[in-house]
Order: sequence, then C-alpha cells, then structure tokens
Amino acid sequence: TAAAIENPATPAVQVNCTQLFINGSFVDSASGKTFPTYDPRTGDVIAHVAEADAEDIDRAVSAARKAFDEGPWPRMTAYERSMVLFRFADLLDKHAEEIAILEAWDSGKPYEQAANIELPMISRLIRYYAGWADKIHGLTVPADSPHHVQTIHEPIGVAGQIIPWNFPLLMFSWKIAPALACGNTVVLKTAEQTPLSALYAVKLLHEAGLPPGVLNVVSGFGPTAGSALCRHMQVDKLAFTGSTETGKRILELAARSNLKPVTLELGGKSPFIICKDADIDKAVELAHFALFFNQGQCCCAGSRTYVHESVYDEFVEKAKARALNRRVGDPFIAGIEQGPQVDSEQFEKILRYIRSGTESGATLEAGGERLGSKGYYIQPTVFSNVQDDMLIAKDEIFGPVQTILKFKDMDEVIRRANGSGYGLAAGVFTQDIDTANTLSRALKAGTVWVNCYNVFDAAVPFGGYKLSGQGREKGVYGLSNYLQVKAVVTPLKNA
Ligand code: ADP
Repeated sequence: TAAAIENPATPAVQVNCTQLFINGSFVDSASGKTFPTYDPRTGDVIAHVAEADAEDIDRAVSAARKAFDEGPWPRMTAYERSMVLFRFADLLDKHAEEIAILEAWDSGKPYEQAANIELPMISRLIRYYAGWADKIHGLTVPADSPHHVQTIHEPIGVAGQIIPWNFPLLMFSWKIAPALACGNTVVLKTAEQTPLSALYAVKLLHEAGLPPGVLNVVSGFGPTAGSALCRHMQVDKLAFTGSTETGKRILELAARSNLKPVTLELGGKSPFIICKDADIDKAVELAHFALFFNQGQCCCAGSRTYVHESVYDEFVEKAKARALNRRVGDPFIAGIEQGPQVDSEQFEKILRYIRSGTESGATLEAGGERLGSKGYYIQPTVFSNVQDDMLIAKDEIFGPVQTILKFKDMDEVIRRANGSGYGLAAGVFTQDIDTANTLSRALKAGTVWVNCYNVFDAAVPFGGYKLSGQGREKGVYGLSNYLQVKAVVTPLKNA
C-alpha cells in the first residue's frame, strides 16, 4: 500500500455535475466564479465547481419560495411525495457504485465503507422518511368548552440546510429526507471540501419526479454562501451539522434576521467507558472502531477512552497493537480501513494536537506522524496516561488519535465523563446490567451505546446535549423539525 500512497490511480468515474442546481437545472454562479475541490490522496484538483455567493443564494431561495408558495410540492398528496422519495432511493441503489467512487475520491474515505456501509444507509433512510410522508397527521383535541379543536401538521416552508464534509451524502440524506417528506422546499449548501456527491444525487432526485425548485443544491463557502442562507428573510427554518463554533454563529444569524427556528448537530468529545468486567479483546476492538472510524472524522467519535485501572495496562497494550495493525492507505484499495484526512487544514490541525499531546506529558504509544510523503495520511495514533485537563482530552481533534484515560470508580468516571462541555454520545462497555443501567442514565449525552458503538438506524434519534446541539434528527423526532402545528378551534352548536 505504500506505493499506492505515492502513486495513486485515477478513479474510473466522470465528474459531470459541477454547477449549482437551482430551480430544476444546473446553472453557473451569477459571478461565474468557481473553486477547486481536491483529492485528499494527493492535494490535486479533482474538478472546479461553481461557487455560490449571496446572489445565488437569493436565486435559490426564490426558487424554493415559489415552489413552496405556488406548489405543487406541498399540495401534492402525501402519497405522491412519498413515491418520489421511494423512486429516488431506487435510483441511488442503481448508481451506488459511481456515487461511492465520487464520495471516496472527494472525501478520502475508503471506497468500501462508502459503498457497503454508507450508500445502503442512505437509501434506507430515504425510504424510512418516504414511508412517513403519508402518515403525518394532527389530532382531534378535547376542549373544556363546546369547541371542536383539531391540530393540523403543516410543512414550515423553505428550509435552509448546511452540511459538513465528513459524511457528505449521508448528511445530505438526513437533512433533505424529513424536510421533503413533510412537504417543505429546501436550499442545501454542501461543505466546500466535498461538493460532488450531492450534485450527483440531486439530479437523480429530479429523475425520480421532484418538481423544479423543491430542492436546490449550492456549493460554496461558509462566510459567504452559508451566512447568506442563514440571514435570508425568506428562509423559514435552518438545519446545520458542523462545528460548535459555526453553530453559534448560525443561531445568531437566525436570531438577528427573522428568528427562524434552528436545528443544530455539533461537535463532541464522547466518552467510551470500559468497566472492569468488560471482555477486553472486544472492548479494544470496539473502542478502536469508535475512534478511528472514518479517519476519526466523526462528531460522535469515542474520543475519550476511559479504562478501569484493573484492566488498564492490558487494554493499552492491546489498543496499541490494534492501532499498529490498522490498514491505512489509498481508499480505493480493497481491505483499506483508513484513508487520508479530508484536507490540509484538518491534517495540520491534527498534527498540532498530536504535538500538544506529547508536550503535555501524555505517553505516545503508537503513530504520531504523517504517513508517506503525499496527501493527508496520518498514522493511527494512541496516547495513554492522558489527563482530563490536557488539550487532547478536551478539544475535538477530529482525527485518528485515541486518548486513553484511567479511572477507579463509577462516581468518578461519571463525573469526569460529564465534565466535558459537549454531550453528543457515550459508550459503555460492561457485562453487568446494573453498571450499564447506572451509566446510561447518568451520562449526559444524546446517544448512549452499550456494548456497541456507531450503530445508526434511520428510526433512532440522534442529537446532542449542551454544546453538541439542539434538537434531534432521524426517526419520528426528526419530523417535528419540519412541521408547524396549527390549532383550529370551531364553536360547536347544540353541544
Ligand atoms: P469545519 O471547521 O469542520 O469545516 P464548519 O462548522 O466550519 O466545520 O463547517 C460545516 C459547514 O458549515 C460547511 O458547509 C461550512 O461551509 C459551513 N459554514 C462555515 N462557516 C459558516 C458561517 N459563518 N455561516 C454559515 N455556514 C458556515
């Protein structure tokens, strides 16, 4: 694999969709500007894509506004809307190989992960929400007075959605599927690092019968296109996945403009707790997966590995051995577990955190450096003897860096695990039911995985406590982000 890192082959796929997708067709940006999207294996340009700015956001929002106010999308029967989404899921399955190649090329993730894990999850999630479209309805409510009271669940209107680069098409699907199922229209901005897969997918969605203007996809940068979308007075709702810092900015822009409601899925520093009774070999493998999956670029990465002192030494030895065995290399080679980080900015940031770990006195057990001389590959890195107040235990590193911390008893580990400002996810590894119950109730996190990690299911809600976000996506909970509830009250005669 070392040779492949230095001389990677060009993937067998054509990059055809690079313009903005507004009102049902591909168009250039108003300024005519483009920006490059890079291959993380080499830093070379894959393609130049149209760059949206405020004027393009305005065009896209106008298209979405018209498609919402004049229809037909919100006025089609829910069954018709659901059939569009079902057909879209079929088309995604049909083109899965090509999309997975684009996804791996643009983001650096292993092709097999994109093709075998993510694409099936995406079409499953689209079908899940397609199934909801015709099952969304209000209630008849008993009143204290002689009135007939009913609630109507209406779509909110135009949703602005901003997604990150770590799971480009998966995040696209989490955002658009519930919004469209409820009858909203959408302007979605992809992350500047990974614009390609969503542009491919939006074309398929129109082949599936989505009317023009209902979903508009724009590529561009945060401070320009992203903030124009957040400030826009004709946008009725925002949904964002990304960093906590940007999330705060988005909430502010929403508040200062038209007070549009905002759903936020932000960063994390999730604890993964290995209790004294755990099966160590399984715990090592799971903790490794919890942290290193997707090059460590997961908001819910199990990035604080707390290990009970009685099994600590054995755990560290085995975690180190597992990291040293991790198969890192060109994401298109079969069996590769880890590709390059997404871009030079992330790559440099991770290497800075690794230096900070060593400087602050943690023990570097494995890795610690870049791999090869090309692209953004980083060796799987393991630190032991990590203390809670070290930067590597506090900040979200978003890279392949496992930090192992020692604990003595339950109360202590609960306090320390909850000591983070974040609260996205947590992992608990134990064979004792009481320990599992105690920890899963005490941990302040939107998801607690017991004896498993990174289990994502379309029906299971996901979101954060504290600095990790507001609201929940996926499942039945994800629908409420895209619905207004209207109470209709009518006097009853002769009641
Ligand atoms: P990262 O630092 O990992 O790139 P960000 O939270 O900055 O994470 O990026 C996630 C998404 O948010 C991207 O689509 C990015 O373009 C967008 N974004 C960044 N800054 C802003 C901003 N000021 N307003 C709106 N969107 C933004």
